[in-house]
Amino acid sequence: MSSSSAPWDYIAKLVCIGDSGCGKSSLTIRLCEGRFVTHHDVTIGVEFGSRVVPVGPPYSLDAAASQQQQQQQQQPPPILDATSQSSPASPKGLPSPPLASRDKSSPPPPPPQKHMKLSLWDTAGQETYKSVTRSYFRGASGALLVFDLTRRSTFQHVTDWLNDLRQIAEPDIVVVLVGNKADLVPPEGEEEGQTQGDARAQPSSSSPPPPTGAGPGTPGKPAGGGPPRREVSRAEAEAWARQNGILEYIETSAKSGENVERAFMHVAERIFQNIQAGKYDLNDRRSGVKSAGAAGGGGGFGAQQPVRLTTAKGQQGTARACC
Ligand code: GDP
Repeated sequence: MSSSSAPWDYIAKLVCIGDSGCGKSSLTIRLCEGRFVTHHDVTIGVEFGSRVVPVGPPYSLDAAASQQQQQQQQQPPPILDATSQSSPASPKGLPSPPLASRDKSSPPPPPPQKHMKLSLWDTAGQETYKSVTRSYFRGASGALLVFDLTRRSTFQHVTDWLNDLRQIAEPDIVVVLVGNKADLVPPEGEEEGQTQGDARAQPSSSSPPPPTGAGPGTPGKPAGGGPPRREVSRAEAEAWARQNGILEYIETSAKSGENVERAFMHVAERIFQNIQAGKYDLNDRRSGVKSAGAAGGGGGFGAQQPVRLTTAKGQQGTARACC
């Protein structure tokens, strides 16, 4: 995978949102640095990271595109008649003949790989910083809406987060729902007393408190102690995602790295499809996407600029680039 300094064709602003302690910073660090840190500073306001990823064909995650590409690769090269005057076989080692003289039935070469720089804005989940972090939703073209699979309360709040996001960000913002800390929960079907099929309330700010009483960042634990357990079933999260027009639901682990790239790259791929469909004005700052030409190939959204934020207690925190 490319590093953040690799050349890119587009730059897109992505925000990570959700309650405090869900793993937003850990997911960003995992994507940008490929590592997991158990203890890192609490996010104050917003922090930045970036990563350049391939989008569209030939890399495309789109199944149809990759299938088509496979078919193209499997086609044997055209057989040339060595005695023919019109299409002489090229001796081994010579460059290919110019396009015009090639067999018209040969497949066109794959398009050059496009790359997108994801400018990641990792926002603080605490209520204290909400007025600050909400302002950063502006101009985002994609979002990871994160909850903690072991803390039901964090799932109950995703509706509020999505409402905030849709009020402030562009209406066609691409959102993926992420259930994080999958490493802490056994695969569904292997867990006693799992929540799958539970007739629990849909997420809402007015829902009752989580059954575990776990605090922010503390994995959910059953009342009698024991290991953390799954408090949101896959079926329930998928149903909520469908009802709320979310692109996809993905379960991740920032700790093991499971599905982390997949989550970010699905957002990137959909943004790329939207670019191809002409949905964004690449010269308009508010669209959340720019082409390399329009952004001048520089900082794009100014994501590498440190931002000083004053906390509620008057201390200053510095937003830093994670990679
Ligand atoms: P944020 O407040 O949403 O940014 O959450 P953090 O990234 O600060 O993570 C909160 C706590 O959860 C930290 O102690 C992390 O080490 C831990 N954590 C984050 N992601 C995972 C994960 O996927 N698995 C496990 N086991 N712990 C995680």
